[in-house]
Amino acid sequence: MPHIKSVKRATLLILMVGMGCGRVPSDFGPFAGLVYEYDRQAHARGKETALDGLYIEFSDALGPHTLGDCGVRNEGGKLIRINRQYWDAVSEDVKELVLFHELGHCANGLRHLDSEYAIMNASVYVSGSKEYKENRTYYLDRHFSRVE
Ligand SMILES: [Zn+2]
Repeated sequence: MPHIKSVKRATLLILMVGMGCGRVPSDFGPFAGLVYEYDRQAHARGKETALDGLYIEFSDALGPHTLGDCGVRNEGGKLIRINRQYWDAVSEDVKELVLFHELGHCANGLRHLDSEYAIMNASVYVSGSKEYKENRTYYLDRHFSRVE
């Protein structure tokens, strides 16, 4: 029964990915959905993302004007911290902007781009997400065009 066989293979594949078979562990926590969307958008544009060894977690240690940051994890790997205080209060569009901005740093090594409205603009959250929401494809194109 070829159908059953292919389902089994898909399940095995998911288990292997879930267990990090042979890969550097990573943990995206409750942000996994946004990470996979970022990865999907990258691949749709022929770009890779470095997600191995990446951890994402809520933090209470970020300053009042910082929604998130990307840095080196003490235990090894990279760490994106998300300001727990603001997360529930911001819209889905801002959540995506915050995560995609930090993934721009941590998964693609991108620097800030402050000369224009952009995902990598350091104060894009201050400018709001309306412009991004209305022209999402354009800003994703711009973003991934900066990835080598
Ligand atoms: Zn930044």
